[in-house]
Amino acid sequence: MKKIDIKDYSLENLRRLFFERDIKKFHADHVFKWCYRERLEVFDNMSDISKNNREFLSKIFYFSEIFPEKRHKAKDGTIKYLFRLNDKETIETAFIPEKNRNTICVSTQVGCKFRCKMCASGDKGFVRNLAVSEILNQLLSVIDDNSLEKIDNIVFMGIGEPFDNYGNLCESLEIITDKKGLAVPAHKICVSTCGLVPEILAFSHDFPKIKLSVSLHACDDMLRDYIMPVNKKYTLKELTGALRKISLNSRHKVTLEYVLIRNKNMRDIDINNLAKIAKKITAKVNFITLNGEKDGLIGPDSKELEEFLRKVKKTDIQFTVRKTRGKEISASCGQLRTGETADER
Ligand code: SAH
Repeated sequence: MKKIDIKDYSLENLRRLFFERDIKKFHADHVFKWCYRERLEVFDNMSDISKNNREFLSKIFYFSEIFPEKRHKAKDGTIKYLFRLNDKETIETAFIPEKNRNTICVSTQVGCKFRCKMCASGDKGFVRNLAVSEILNQLLSVIDDNSLEKIDNIVFMGIGEPFDNYGNLCESLEIITDKKGLAVPAHKICVSTCGLVPEILAFSHDFPKIKLSVSLHACDDMLRDYIMPVNKKYTLKELTGALRKISLNSRHKVTLEYVLIRNKNMRDIDINNLAKIAKKITAKVNFITLNGEKDGLIGPDSKELEEFLRKVKKTDIQFTVRKTRGKEISASCGQLRTGETADER
């Protein structure tokens, strides 16, 4: 019989699983607490469970693990991990320590289907969704590797499209936010999407307190079709319509991610359109200069950036400019995985 991975189940589902196997439901709470609060993954040492029960549990259940195959530390302290999964596939995770908080950036899929022009994540195509345990193990491995007492911030901005793996994303979020689990407050978590409208609406209902970022990157359909082909399925009108709907019902402002690409999306008309969209959905905008070069797309130089921001300041757009972290370690989505050669496998 194939053993069941404890880390694939939220507490509620683990209780159900234990109940179905005639194990007292409260033992699910014990195991859950040992795993996520105490970081203990051996049934043998779980002192509040009887020896018989521990033996029984270890016959049915196990705790999966992932180990970093590569670990690149940048001068600014950012650590990029490349994890090898059981089926030999790879994913990336970033740990970004800052003065007052630490952030972990996690992946949700192996590869990506959405093929955004500037993003390396889909370069090798889409392979598969990550299991709940694989999403969690990224966090747990970074916690263990850095002896963290807690995680301050989690961003779902690694490889893959979180909303294309909706079920496993939600189950992992249950565990991450559970007080008996990783106990990360919902408002310290941000999920970023390329713009899958049905899931955006479902998510704002299922997890109203978790922050939402939407990768916009262009403000007219022609340019967005080119930069983000997902726009052909969910147009700007549909996307901004959905975002307006949720902004009316939510306490949180949606963040619009806007990657700056030289000679593409930095025109005056883009600024005007962006101001209109941001106003319509009362969103904040986060500008990011394109990291690296891909298909002839590059970011602005500092002068172009300055000039662009000078114009943005004349509008009522509420914005931030994201610093590029870990540049020399290929810290943007999928860059480490793409740089890996087949020989290294
Ligand atoms: N699929 C999700 C989350 C993953 S990407 C999404 O599309 O939002 C996280 C963010 O990094 C997205 O805004 C993405 O567009 C951006 N990004 C991808 N490649 C980049 C690059 N080379 N430079 C800067 N930002 C990049």
